[in-house]
Amino acid sequence: MKYLSLNNPSFKVNFRDAVLMGQAPEKGLFFPEQIPVVPEFILKNLNTFSKEEIAFQITQPFVGDIIDSNSLKEIVKETVNFDFPLIPINESVYALELFHGPTGAFKDVGARFLSRVLHYFSKDSNQKLTVLVATSGDTGGAVADAFFKKNNIDVYILFPSGKVSELQHTQLTCYGENIHALEVAGTFDDCQMLVKQAFDDKVLNKKFRFISANSINIARWVSQQFYYFFALQKWPHKQPPVISVPSGNLGNISAGLLAKATGLETGDFIAACNENKALTDYLQTGVFKPKETVKTISNAMDVGNPSNFKRVIECLLKDKNKSGLTSFSFTSEETKNAIQSVYLQNKYLMDPHGAVGYLALKKYLESHPGSKGIFLETAHPAKFSNIIQPIIGREPEIPKQFLKYDKSNSQSEKIKPLYQELLQHLS
Ligand SMILES: *Cc1c(COP(=O)(O)O)cnc(C)c1O
Repeated sequence: MKYLSLNNPSFKVNFRDAVLMGQAPEKGLFFPEQIPVVPEFILKNLNTFSKEEIAFQITQPFVGDIIDSNSLKEIVKETVNFDFPLIPINESVYALELFHGPTGAFKDVGARFLSRVLHYFSKDSNQKLTVLVATSGDTGGAVADAFFKKNNIDVYILFPSGKVSELQHTQLTCYGENIHALEVAGTFDDCQMLVKQAFDDKVLNKKFRFISANSINIARWVSQQFYYFFALQKWPHKQPPVISVPSGNLGNISAGLLAKATGLETGDFIAACNENKALTDYLQTGVFKPKETVKTISNAMDVGNPSNFKRVIECLLKDKNKSGLTSFSFTSEETKNAIQSVYLQNKYLMDPHGAVGYLALKKYLESHPGSKGIFLETAHPAKFSNIIQPIIGREPEIPKQFLKYDKSNSQSEKIKPLYQELLQHLS
């Protein structure tokens, strides 16, 4: 399997180089030269396979002979070693809970797969790998947990001081060892700029083998397809489900569209957006216009210029089954009201991101009577107790996987948003 650059289709690399490079020159997104087809006997008998077997079968054609089968089996087994329950909310709406991983974010799956693939690659190269990532909260925690103690890989996580929640702060800073938390006296944009400057620094790149862990890395993209197969394994109805994906950088929904292009039978996809709605506007007007980011209560979706946009378009072009894609956008006020009404009427507590997914599915079903669907619950509500508490009048319960975070272990290195300071902390 080769990956070509969507900017320049004659630029082709294998799985290993695509993962290590992150992106092709001139910000090109990697895309499989040919989309593999999942064998019919798997698609028709999804519920007879374990999630490990499914994950292996989906991943194998994307990896090719770059990782031997036994190692790949081990990698995917570790990647998906928690539950992905499908919970009925009412007769036509289901929630696929993707927050049972170690940090309570769906990003755990992509980060765990990426870390294990890189660890495999690092074993046969004598150069240490250095993962550099800027985070506004969720990605950094998932990356820290996934890479902890992966020897031969150093991780630097830059996050804006005072702008992540208390739980996120602990999740970012409690690991130590190969995980370096750099607390930047600035904004998320400052963090991103510092990371970008390091990636572009020719001299520095002679000393470090930098790896990007952001959502355009194909290791994250390919592994996010798992959710959609797991959802279909559990789907109790004949008619395929419509799937609503709370969307920001469009990594997750482009993985869903990829799964569909490989043969998975789903209904339409819905990109559920908050007030950052470049994709919603594009589907209405045919014009893609990146915008300034707007701050909302579903902050992991606050993305004005979604980096996987071209992959979404390419997946739609490549899909023989001609996926339908719709998108709706909702305000923070509407999101809060949805959290409250579903909590009161259906006894189900949604987080602010999942709630946007719920709203979009509900809106779609209003004009498609008889359809049924799934929205993805992308984060545990306890991660957003400051938002949830005033809406429902109590704190969300803390899941047991969060109890291991010990604030007293917290350690971060504080830096000013200056490139010189970042350089002093890389070692
Ligand atoms: C990252 C994130 C999203 C958005 O996913 P994309 O792949 O960037 O579209 C949605 N919800 C939560 C909780 C997230 O952390």
